[in-house]
Amino acid sequence: MGKLNVTVLRYLTKEDFRILTAIEMGMKNHELVPGALVAAIASLKTGGVHKLLRELCKHKLLSYERGKTYDGYRLTNMGYDYLALKSLTLRGSVAAFGNQIGVGKESNIYTVSDDDGTPLCLKLHRLGRICFRNVREKRDYHGKRRNMSWLYLSRISATREFAYMKALYDRGFPVPKPIDFNRHCVIMELVNGYPMTNVSEIENVEQLYDDLMNLIVRLGNCGVIHGDFNEFNIMITDEGKPILIDFPQMVSTSHPNAKMYFDRDVTGVRDLFRKKYGFDSEEYPTFDDLEREDNLDVEVLCSGYGFTQEMEDDILKEYGMNDDNDDQSDTEEVEEGKQESPEIEIEEYRKELEKEIKFSEEKPRTLQLTKSLGESSTSN
Ligand code: ADP
Ligand code: MG
Repeated sequence: MGKLNVTVLRYLTKEDFRILTAIEMGMKNHELVPGALVAAIASLKTGGVHKLLRELCKHKLLSYERGKTYDGYRLTNMGYDYLALKSLTLRGSVAAFGNQIGVGKESNIYTVSDDDGTPLCLKLHRLGRICFRNVREKRDYHGKRRNMSWLYLSRISATREFAYMKALYDRGFPVPKPIDFNRHCVIMELVNGYPMTNVSEIENVEQLYDDLMNLIVRLGNCGVIHGDFNEFNIMITDEGKPILIDFPQMVSTSHPNAKMYFDRDVTGVRDLFRKKYGFDSEEYPTFDDLEREDNLDVEVLCSGYGFTQEMEDDILKEYGMNDDNDDQSDTEEVEEGKQESPEIEIEEYRKELEKEIKFSEEKPRTLQLTKSLGESSTSN
């Protein structure tokens, strides 16, 4: 897993793409999507679809499985990767693929380049893949049950990362320039440097310490906490300047546990400097020092990338950062038996498919995140 055989991308036709997208849509409510449903959602003839489905299985973009009550298809990791990469390629955000440069806890990182040959960084988010079998039921946006699957989680994680990176970059924070995203993939500037873990010699240790603490405070004053501010997520450029990466777990300073997350980030830096560079400073910021200057946390939620409060809750739950006041959705589950008619369901899937295809072909509008929420009537 994780290896990209990009030659397959070239052979993916428009129809293949439609079928994969149809399965992606179907998987919102079905663990396995029956062939007939795929054909219906994709609005393609059943006969032809079966042949294409077989081919896609052969290339391991899909798998065909026998369920308890019915058989059907599901997207593999690779299938999902190709959907996203094909989109990014069609839009011209990615033209060529390079090497894998990192495997994080929850991601695979590659170098890619755009049409002009500019090297970029591709991050594939991989959440919840370990326990795919252990899918939890979750309500759809339409109030139906849905799987909180790796598809859903990886996608929100990437969307969230892109939204934060964009908001931070626009404010001049030292983060990679966000270029584009699709599904669980984010394309960003390739940082010219190394993660701090791999940097043993720092020219001016005290300066770097100050830079990092100032960065934590600046983030806090904008209303956010990185949440995983450690030597793996801080890159040092060739000029010795820190660049912050890895944003899916960022939280608001209004989060009930904000102080704890803030202190954890600060303590992490202090410990690191003490252990690694023998640098011990009595000066460090506290949560109470923060002064709100900006509402980056709130703006990210209304930045128009299709991000909802429910998704926010779901992803924080996944990161173990939810505030533990158990939501009542479990008790609402009673209604769930009320199934909509198959025609209405298919109609809905078709609509989502068209929306998804559109999203695949167009770059998400780069929305201006306005300074004050009062004037955030961005047209979109
Ligand atoms: P994870 O969420 O899995 O920890 P990260 O975003 O921290 O993923 O990335 C993992 C590693 O990939 C980093 O430690 C770094 O070495 C490399 N990396 C990530 N983003 C970039 C980038 N924009 N430029 C260069 N290298 C990067
Ligand atoms: Mg990381």
